[in-house]
Amino acid sequence: MADPIHDADEEAPAALSAVERYKRAREARKIAPPQRLADEPSHDTDTLWRGLTREGEMRVMVVRATQSVREATAALGCGPWGAKLVAELMTGAQLLRACLNPDEQLQISAVNTGSAGNFVVDAYVEGHMRATLRNPAASLDDGFLVGNGTVQFARTRRGKATYRSAIALEHDEIDQLLMRYLLESEQILSLLHLDIDVTEQGHVRHAVGFLVQAMPEGSRDDLSRLVANLESLTSLGTQMHAADPDAMAWAHALMDGFYWDQVARQSVSFRCPCSPERVLALLSTLPQADLEELAEDGEPLETTCDYCKTTYSVPLEQLSALMARPS
Ligand SMILES: [Zn+2]
Repeated sequence: MADPIHDADEEAPAALSAVERYKRAREARKIAPPQRLADEPSHDTDTLWRGLTREGEMRVMVVRATQSVREATAALGCGPWGAKLVAELMTGAQLLRACLNPDEQLQISAVNTGSAGNFVVDAYVEGHMRATLRNPAASLDDGFLVGNGTVQFARTRRGKATYRSAIALEHDEIDQLLMRYLLESEQILSLLHLDIDVTEQGHVRHAVGFLVQAMPEGSRDDLSRLVANLESLTSLGTQMHAADPDAMAWAHALMDGFYWDQVARQSVSFRCPCSPERVLALLSTLPQADLEELAEDGEPLETTCDYCKTTYSVPLEQLSALMARPS
């Protein structure tokens, strides 16, 4: 293959040193210690950080969603098994969303025969997320929490659907399911691991996870090297603690053999976008007959959000105003 830079160097010795200087600087940069982000949050704050190898072969994302999951599972009234499932869904959805375009949000929803029933998890652009499931008190004694069915992945950008894909659900572990989605629908070779610790009483000790991906410059071998590194590592959940909130010691061991930097961070939180305005907007889409039925008993309409359990009361006057609107 022609090498224009090299050919030019041979004809112009003065330029050679410039190229040489560039190469040396590049080599020096390549082997410099990893750059760390300065804004490391405390261990009781949720976060997602990204790392990238300097040759662009691999990227890694690490998330801590413990506090968000505690808030969501408390709102839902989860038992220990429901809490574990919600923790997996929220932590996993946050990692998956982080792989998408920065302005896309992700919804994962499943219709299935499991004892926990149908579930939905939303991961928003700002790092906010919420989840709901039909039977938060389900236990393994009732059978598999997640059964057979279909799971839909919907990506949206500013309210417009950008991508939708459905895959079959077959008693999957959530991390297996998400990896399958990444490979089948996004053609991204990745390793996603969720580390969830919930006590028998339903207390969420930690909800953390990581995702490593081979970039277009990377190869299956690069990913295999990371998997080999992983075998000698202790769990992320125990390595992410107050003295090392980003689990950098763990990350160095994971990325051993690669030159890499911590490149970006986003905060993560439980937040539901429901509001009185949204409730009214939803009601305004109902047919006249349904609105009349809701107003029949002469009481304000009470409605509770499936995700955060906030109750909204819609006064009769507002219902009447909706009914009076021109159709
Ligand atoms: Zn809500």
